[in-house]
Amino acid sequence: MSDNHYDLMILGAGPAGITSALYGQRLGLKTIAFGDIPGGSSYMIEHLANFPGLIEGTSGTQFGTMAFQQAHKEGANFTLTRLESLSHNDNLFSGVDVDGQEHTALSAIVATGRVPKRLAVSNPNLSDGPLYRGKNATLAVVGSDNTAAQHALTLARTAAKVLLICRSNTLKMDAVHKDQIEQQKNITLMVNTEVSGYNGQEAVENIEIAAEAENRQNLAVDGIFLAIGWRPNISALKLEVQKTAEGYLETNEKLMTSVPGLFAAGDVRDTDMWQVLTACADGARAAKYAAEYLEKLTQV
Ligand SMILES: Cc1cc2nc3c(=O)[nH]c(=O)nc-3n(C[C@H](O)[C@H](O)[C@H](O)COP(=O)(O)OP(=O)(O)OC[C@H]3O[C@@H](n4cnc5c(N)ncnc54)[C@H](O)[C@@H]3O)c2cc1C
Repeated sequence: MSDNHYDLMILGAGPAGITSALYGQRLGLKTIAFGDIPGGSSYMIEHLANFPGLIEGTSGTQFGTMAFQQAHKEGANFTLTRLESLSHNDNLFSGVDVDGQEHTALSAIVATGRVPKRLAVSNPNLSDGPLYRGKNATLAVVGSDNTAAQHALTLARTAAKVLLICRSNTLKMDAVHKDQIEQQKNITLMVNTEVSGYNGQEAVENIEIAAEAENRQNLAVDGIFLAIGWRPNISALKLEVQKTAEGYLETNEKLMTSVPGLFAAGDVRDTDMWQVLTACADGARAAKYAAEYLEKLTQV
C-alpha cells in the first residue's frame, strides 16, 4: 500500500475531529485528519460554557488552539486542508483533498459539524463584526436561541445598535443569556417580529419586518446576521449513507453509520446535544469503535 494509505481517515478538525485524531493516534492507528479550521466552530464561542474544569471564561478560540496543540504534540497527523470528496469502494474509503491528492483508509470518521442556514443574498459572518467598529452601524440578528444571543452580545461591542429579532415571544436562549441581553443597553429585543423581506443590491441594506401581517415596516440596517437554524455539513460525502430528513448522519450505539467502517461524531451526527463536550466524547468513542472495527477486519 502507498504512503497515502491509512487505518483511519478523519474529516474535521473541530472538537470531535481533534479528539478522534488524539485517540486514534493513542490507539496505535495510522491516522490522518483533514480540516481547515483547527478548533472548528468553537472559534465563535466568546466564553466556553458547559465544559467542566474551565471556569475562567476560556474563549472557544483558546480552547480549540489548546486542544489542537495537545493532539499535535501527541503525534496526531493534521493536514489543515479540506477533503473535496469522500467515497467508498471495495471496503476502502477514498478521500481527495483540495490539491487533488488521493488518500485511502480502511475506516473513516465524519466530524464535519454543521453550518448556519444562509440568506439568498450575501450576508456577513460573525467574524465580520469588527468591520463595523466606529461606523455607527445598526445590525440585525435574527433568532432566539443561545447562538443568536451570543451573536448579539458579540456584535454589541462594535456596533452602535443591535436589533435582536425573534419570531415568537418564547426565547429559546438560557436564562444567563437572557439576563445579559436585557442588561446590554445597545441591544433592542424585538419579540413576535418576523423578517418578511430584505432589500439591497449586493448586501442587505434594509429589512422589512412585521409584527402582524398588516403592520409591515422597513428598517435600515448595515448588516443582518442569521441564527435561524443549521444544516449538517455533508457536502463532501459522495457515498450512499443513511441520514435523517434534515441530513444528519444516523449512527448505531457504536457511532457507526449505515456504511461499514464509516463513523460519525459531533454536530454532524443525529444527536440531541450540540456542545463541545459531547462532540469530544463522540470523537473519543468513534476512534475507539473504529479501532475495534479494524481489529475485527484483520481477524476475518
Ligand atoms: C456562537 C456559538 C456559541 C457556542 N457556545 C458553546 C458553548 O458555550 N459551549 C459548548 O459546549 N458549545 C457551544 N457551541 C457549540 C460548539 O461550538 C459545537 O457543538 C462544537 O464546535 C461541535 O464540534 P464538531 O467537532 O462536531 O464540529 P465543528 O466544531 O463545527 O467542526 C467541524 C470541522 O470540520 C471541518 N470540515 C468541514 N468540512 C470539511 C471537509 N470537507 N473536509 C475536512 N474538514 C472539514 C471544519 O473545518 C471544522 O474544523 C457554540 C456554537 C456557536 C456557533
